[in-house]
Amino acid sequence: MIFASVSRFRAAAVGLALMAAPFSLATAYFQFGAIAAPATTAPGAGVDGAKIANADADPGEWLSHGRTYSEQRFSPLAKINTTNVKSLGVAWEYRTYSVRGLEATPIVVDGVMYITLSWSKVIALDARSGKELWTYDPKVPGGTGRYACCDVVNRGVALWKGAVYVGTLDGRLVKLDSRTGKVLWTIDTVENHKHTYTITGAPRAMDGLIVIGNGGAEYDSRGYVTAFDAVSGKKVWRFHVVPGDPSKPQENAALQLALKTWDTTGKYKFWQIGGGGAPWNSMSYDPVLDLLYFGTGNGNPWNREIRSPKGGDNLYLSSVVALHAKTGEFAWAYQTTPGDTWDFDSTADVVLADLTIDGKLRHVLMHAPKNGFFYVIDRATGKLISAQKFATVTWAKGIDPKTGKPIEDADARYRNKMAVIYPQETGAHNWQPMTFDPQTGLVYIPAMDGAAIFVGSKDFTYKPGAWNLGVDFAAISQAVLQAIASGKPPPPAVGFIKAWDPVAQKEVWQVAMGGSWNSGLLTTGGGLLFGGDAYGNFSAYDAKAGHKLWSIDLKTGILAPAMTYSIGGEQYIALLAGWGGAGGLAAFRDPGTALSRFQTNQGRLFVFKLGGRQSVQPLAPEGSPPTEPPPLTPADWAMLDRGFTMYHRTCLVCHGFFAQSGGEVPDLRLAPNEIWGQYDNIVLNGALSDGGMASFKDVLSKNDVAAIRAYVLQQSHLAWDQAHKGPGHKP
Ligand code: CA
Repeated sequence: MIFASVSRFRAAAVGLALMAAPFSLATAYFQFGAIAAPATTAPGAGVDGAKIANADADPGEWLSHGRTYSEQRFSPLAKINTTNVKSLGVAWEYRTYSVRGLEATPIVVDGVMYITLSWSKVIALDARSGKELWTYDPKVPGGTGRYACCDVVNRGVALWKGAVYVGTLDGRLVKLDSRTGKVLWTIDTVENHKHTYTITGAPRAMDGLIVIGNGGAEYDSRGYVTAFDAVSGKKVWRFHVVPGDPSKPQENAALQLALKTWDTTGKYKFWQIGGGGAPWNSMSYDPVLDLLYFGTGNGNPWNREIRSPKGGDNLYLSSVVALHAKTGEFAWAYQTTPGDTWDFDSTADVVLADLTIDGKLRHVLMHAPKNGFFYVIDRATGKLISAQKFATVTWAKGIDPKTGKPIEDADARYRNKMAVIYPQETGAHNWQPMTFDPQTGLVYIPAMDGAAIFVGSKDFTYKPGAWNLGVDFAAISQAVLQAIASGKPPPPAVGFIKAWDPVAQKEVWQVAMGGSWNSGLLTTGGGLLFGGDAYGNFSAYDAKAGHKLWSIDLKTGILAPAMTYSIGGEQYIALLAGWGGAGGLAAFRDPGTALSRFQTNQGRLFVFKLGGRQSVQPLAPEGSPPTEPPPLTPADWAMLDRGFTMYHRTCLVCHGFFAQSGGEVPDLRLAPNEIWGQYDNIVLNGALSDGGMASFKDVLSKNDVAAIRAYVLQQSHLAWDQAHKGPGHKP
């Protein structure tokens, strides 16, 4: 699947056309009933800590990200069940006019639904009819897209006492009136704009605080979590994940302790180039212990040889951290990947449950991070109870039950050689939430099996605002090409839903999914498990046995988890469809996604009910494929070689291996002809920055751009020949 079919030309045209579409186009795709007057009291006016903690008293609502503070994503609603789910269909749909990844969990309170879209936009809808109530566009500058490693996504809002809180891609926390969408306050959460920070995660609300983390550990960030007063917006506390300048006192005793696990003598000082640990996704909360739990990200740079050359665990990277929520004081941390060097974020969801283990009721947290182990941890103390592999894992043989530390494979660290390990950089499980069903006692994990190749940079130079990984993606791409040429291409990554018994620590069943990069999950009191895939199929399974009971083709790839709510006795299932994220930016791992079938990635919110419409029409692709072959510009092999290297070091992260886009950003090979004449203007002058393509003047020279253009043009000719002369052409 190296070469495109002609249909893929359309994807690029759609991407280019829609990136410029103004947000004011957004209207309800289907409208029902009369226009509702604004509610007289603010929706969610009664939502506070007691109400969220007691969410089961209002099972028709979905008040916080994972429904409850425990983030189990289990709803007791049971009207839709294993017997009648076959009549589930679309009640209404809402077109989002977005072409990038949609990852949010809708929040529903008092008959109003709040969703977020790419570029941190917020929409309020009548949850019964789909009627649009208000929209909010924080107007994130398009150029910010360059600083978001894994797409311009957003995972949702928090509710607190009649206000809606959203984190924006450029690092703001915004408080909106839940009734009108009016901005009540905006806070810049970025403490140092010389470094790269983004927000994609959903805020959480407890103790009168709004808590938010950040991303940026592929660039040069020092991750932290901040709590703001929900009323005034005043900063109440901030917890940094990794130590700062060692010549100064650390912010707290926990960081003082952590500093001993870092090497401060390297050529690059981790406190100057970031350190990492970005807490960009998961949070959960135990109101009895008043402990806030969150997962922390990978080291920055990825390569520990650069970040901390003499080794060390580098606390608190790739960890679950527990803080006293009111004060932000450190309680404990459990590190899943000591001395991370493989991008093993521990930012997958942290799910709280009470389990009977060895005859005793244990208050635990469950965590299945990228590194491929399923952890059950005592959530009061942070002590490991058990850990087992839930996917293909080669970097470590197991977890030592005495120390709680992994037993690493001797060849897993790449140092001065290439290392091939499982899992891949996107992990055995990424941000797509798992769910715990207390009725079956099982956890359902959107799991992946895929291998990663690591080659350390020989000539690493820190560049502010650029990817600073210490890993050479040009060398990695060469290795992939050589593997293909030798007839042994890397096996494609594959995805599953795994039903996991957290007490016995073993798999009960699994179902294979279409792609590897699939959706988050939901379980319900009706005995159902809901999940979607990269190919656009949304399905309901028997949560006990794993049989598929119902499925619908949504014509758009799915990442976001479904949620459920009820109004007037009718149970609804809601789901955002729109492919993207880290796994969606590259087609290489998931060929044949919904995008390539329908030539469009236009986002939609789908709401289902019993007796609804059982089919979905694809949205017509916009634009048309190029009808002229790409221009012929002579280039010598040295230039092409340089272009290959510069492309894979700079452009790959958004535009994909070998210039094959996953489709949500333009496929550079399929550019309209006028684009080939504007490379300097686009890449150096930022001519398309409003659409997300920022200037790279700070990291690329005019000669670099010419070389990249030559390489992409070569790939473009290969794709054109493939489409017009049939298969069998070799690069
Ligand atoms: Ca990462």
